[in-house]
Amino acid sequence: MTAINPDAPILVTGGTGYLAGVIIAQLLAAGHVVHATVRDPNRQDRLAALEALAEASPGSIRYFRADLQDPDAFAPAMAGCQLVIHTASPFIAHVADPQRDLVDPAVEGTRNVLTAANTTASVKRVVLTSSCAAIYGDNADIASMPGGKLTEAVWNTSSTLRHQAYSLSKTLAENVAWDLAGDQSRWDLVTINPSLILGPGIDPMTAGESYALLTQIGDGTMASGIPDFRIGTVDVRDVAAAHITAGFTPQAAGRHILSGHNTGFVEMSAILRDHFGDSYRFGRTILPKFLVWLAGPMINPALTRKMVSRNVGIAFIADNAKSRSALGVDYRPLATTLTEHFRQLIEAGRIKPRR
Ligand code: NAP
Repeated sequence: MTAINPDAPILVTGGTGYLAGVIIAQLLAAGHVVHATVRDPNRQDRLAALEALAEASPGSIRYFRADLQDPDAFAPAMAGCQLVIHTASPFIAHVADPQRDLVDPAVEGTRNVLTAANTTASVKRVVLTSSCAAIYGDNADIASMPGGKLTEAVWNTSSTLRHQAYSLSKTLAENVAWDLAGDQSRWDLVTINPSLILGPGIDPMTAGESYALLTQIGDGTMASGIPDFRIGTVDVRDVAAAHITAGFTPQAAGRHILSGHNTGFVEMSAILRDHFGDSYRFGRTILPKFLVWLAGPMINPALTRKMVSRNVGIAFIADNAKSRSALGVDYRPLATTLTEHFRQLIEAGRIKPRR
């Protein structure tokens, strides 16, 4: 690929999202012109944080209305862009209909964005936000992977519409992206595959699963016991920077696991408790797996018995070597990410101290 012209506009899809907000903040700070697609450009409440950033930055932003399932929506936003960063995809834990609410928008959205790239002569590179969820479905999958760890060579084969449907949606969407990229040669595809993204977003009132999880660790949800889920985590600022580096580095190619730390709810709770003390309602003890297995489905429909059996107490191990060597990622310490994110929740009044 020839180098991207930094003066050409850069398309970021899903501009109102948690990760997209931080990508756009970094692009604006570096003076770029951003074209952001959003579902509703008239929602001033959703755009206020982006507006404030644009006001204070050397870069500029324009909004374009686009739903993932509208095949005609993305071409106007892409006009003149050499770099497309496609982040938009539903990331929702509870859905009524996984095909309709997760898989269809993820897959059709990816197809629509990349089809627009095919008809937009200026586009040279597409950076797709995929996920570690496109590499593994359950922690139990990891032991049988080569080297017993997640690498870019592996694909998720265990997720279905009835089990880990979000992971299925990310797997199918990334798969479609590689197929479409392979059918032409004008633009190339680079994917970023993050584990759980945490860290302060541009708007302290951000919704979404990353904020929901961190809130649950400190709001008392886990006060009577912590389910021993092991996960990978990565700072949102590191993920955002990796997308931009992937966009501007001509030799960047293929998939990139973005995961700074092999950790879990128990370690994350301990780090936050050490830092913020007992003023907040962190858990201390680990819930026995059989209790999570027994009670999980009654507390949270996503905690099916199969999900608990195949994940609780089972290690998460990801190899992040490629992200460090190819994209130069220097991961922030886990404690920095967690404490800065949790402080944002406190300052926004989303987490209250014990009374
Ligand atoms: P988020 O805040 O929920 O952002 C998702 C974005 O997708 C939002 O802008 C949302 O628009 C947009 N979107 C969803 N359905 C849409 C539709 N039908 N039409 C148009 N836009 C639609 O989640 P996030 O954490 O930033 O996730 C961003 C990307 O990172 C996703 O691709 C996700 O799979 C991936 N990812 C996230 C994590 C994580 O831990 N957060 C980890 C790995 C990968 P609205 O704002 O209008 O809802």
